[in-house]
Amino acid sequence: MTVKTVISAAKEFGVPERYAIMRRLAFLQPQIKHLEREIWGAQQRIERSSNPLTKALIASLINDQEKELRPLKLEATALLNHVNGKEARPVAGKITPEMIEQARQYPITSIIDFPKGKHRCCPFHKDSNPSMALYENHVHCFVCNRTWDSISATMELDGVTFREAVLALQT
Ligand SMILES: [Zn+2]
Repeated sequence: MTVKTVISAAKEFGVPERYAIMRRLAFLQPQIKHLEREIWGAQQRIERSSNPLTKALIASLINDQEKELRPLKLEATALLNHVNGKEARPVAGKITPEMIEQARQYPITSIIDFPKGKHRCCPFHKDSNPSMALYENHVHCFVCNRTWDSISATMELDGVTFREAVLALQT
């Protein structure tokens, strides 16, 4: 999958782009870690083995795993670059009340898409009936019984801190 595919799939399913990217990364990263661990273990076995045939077999296994790993890593890197290039704005120093206010005013519909009006399925729980409602610039889910503003929605969807969310929403 390419960054483009993830973004167009997000559009098609009415999911915010950054949410789709984070979900895809959450899917890719454990696989990458798993393969890297496997390759590392196989390399250790090659070092320990004195049998040339065993060494050759393990080497060919490593080769296969590296082939599998390469596209996953490329995709994860491309997704991270896309998210960072677009959203991460490294700002030194403290966040001010004005910055927090600006982050709160960041349109929540750019974070959680409402393509069909004021209701949609909740992205925070398994939802088949639209239980999330849009009010001014915050959302409420009647199943989760919780309300999110732009900051808390960003924190939860992207797994970032309050500060990181405020910085990401300075646009
Ligand atoms: Zn919910």
